[in-house]
Amino acid sequence: MPIATVNPADGAVLRTYEALDAAGIEERIARAHETFATWRLTTFGDRAVLLRKAAELLEEDAADVARLMTAEMGKPVVQARAEAVKCVKAMRWYAERAESLLADEHPDEADVKDSGALAARVVYRPLGVVLAVMPWNFPLWQVVRFAAPALMAGNVGLLKHASNVPGTALYLEDLLRRAGFPEGCFGTLLIGSGEVERVLRDPRVAAATLTGSEPAGRSVASVAGDEVKPTVLELGGSDPFLVLPSADVAKAAQTAVTARVQNNGQSCIAAKRFIVHARVFDEFTERFTEGMSALRVGDPADEDTEVGPLSSEQGRADLEELVEDAVAQGARVLCGGRRPAGLDDGWYYEPTVLTDLSPGMRIHHAETFGPVASLYRAASLDEAVSLANDTPFGLSSNVWTRDAVDLARCVRDLRAGGVFVNGMTASHPALPFGGVKRSGYGRELAGHGIRAFCNATTVWEGAGG
Ligand code: NAP
Repeated sequence: MPIATVNPADGAVLRTYEALDAAGIEERIARAHETFATWRLTTFGDRAVLLRKAAELLEEDAADVARLMTAEMGKPVVQARAEAVKCVKAMRWYAERAESLLADEHPDEADVKDSGALAARVVYRPLGVVLAVMPWNFPLWQVVRFAAPALMAGNVGLLKHASNVPGTALYLEDLLRRAGFPEGCFGTLLIGSGEVERVLRDPRVAAATLTGSEPAGRSVASVAGDEVKPTVLELGGSDPFLVLPSADVAKAAQTAVTARVQNNGQSCIAAKRFIVHARVFDEFTERFTEGMSALRVGDPADEDTEVGPLSSEQGRADLEELVEDAVAQGARVLCGGRRPAGLDDGWYYEPTVLTDLSPGMRIHHAETFGPVASLYRAASLDEAVSLANDTPFGLSSNVWTRDAVDLARCVRDLRAGGVFVNGMTASHPALPFGGVKRSGYGRELAGHGIRAFCNATTVWEGAGG
């Protein structure tokens, strides 16, 4: 079946792509498998030269690829350019650091002796062909944060990108080819999600990583489990944003707006639930609502736009349903709560703040993937922490406080893969990224990310030689 891309800003079909047939899939897997046999023998230095070249080319292409991403999935073009620049940085970071991150590990001399060895060490070897199933929301970044470390470790990658961003997927394949990566090192599979199982069960595919929704993660993890293949899952999030009595409320409110609406509100690590201590609730609410109402919503190709459309009509319908369900059960709309006037062709939704929420509403436990903020009043720190943890997700969390005791309590008790203090959650190549609970398992980025697809091999040398 052909894959069609549609511009979320106006509903126009951009382009149609022919999906790979069975023979095409087989050819891609075979080529990746063959390439691994030689790619794994290259040195870190060889790989770094190619990755640095890819970074240089991407830097040159940033404006063009940004426009492509914006057309395919609707993010404001300024943010799309920033995403490309972030990828350049991550490529350079791993080109520079991979060798030291994967250096041999040497146990203590006394422990080596105790194991009966003359010498012992741990070496990190690549696993092979890794299947990457990726989402559309950061169509370059999600892939690069997998591919840069995986390729530097000596693995090869097969990308199954989301069906609405095939242009970006093919751009990435071409970028790495132009940078000099051998054919088969990184291939794009233009396939629907129904073909993922067949690829994952192929014995030539060693492992998988999936960034996306919980149902997709569950499906890939169960097939991989059945095949006993390792996986990393980066799934949804409903990050809490706690504002405690000692916070700088003005700064917190300003950052809260960005943290909620970045990428048109479609980011896994967006702050989605704003949990504000009663002592600062009124001030925060006023500033936050004012900030959300003032955002410029419009054509994402426009340099001035701050919030563009949702990536799909279905995405907007899902969001609307969550808001309607909450309002029907007594939630109050402080701003937004509807489609903006005059933007009828695209899948726009006004930046929205909802309050007076209760656990019976679907929004209380669901991920709001769009510019809708859930605002809660907490009577105490205990209640704030308990509300923060009252979610199936555990990706990241944000805490605004200048009180060391309150902060220590939050770092100890928030059940999430990150605690970002007096700022908003963001990923960085040097910091591990991932979640707990329904947000997935495993970590990307930093040393954790590059070791995720390595075979930590014990080399033990005895006296018997
Ligand atoms: P999605 O619908 O789960 O799609 C993600 C990828 O999985 C796509 O390539 C999709 O292919 C594929 N897929 C869907 N169902 C599948 C199945 N049953 N088996 C195998 N593959 C399947 O998610 P999305 O709408 O693109 O992205 C939004 C979600 O991703 C949100 O929940 C967000 O929080 C999460 N996310 C998490 C992170 C993180 O780092 N934790 C980062 C970004 C996004 P098709 O497009 O062909 O269906």
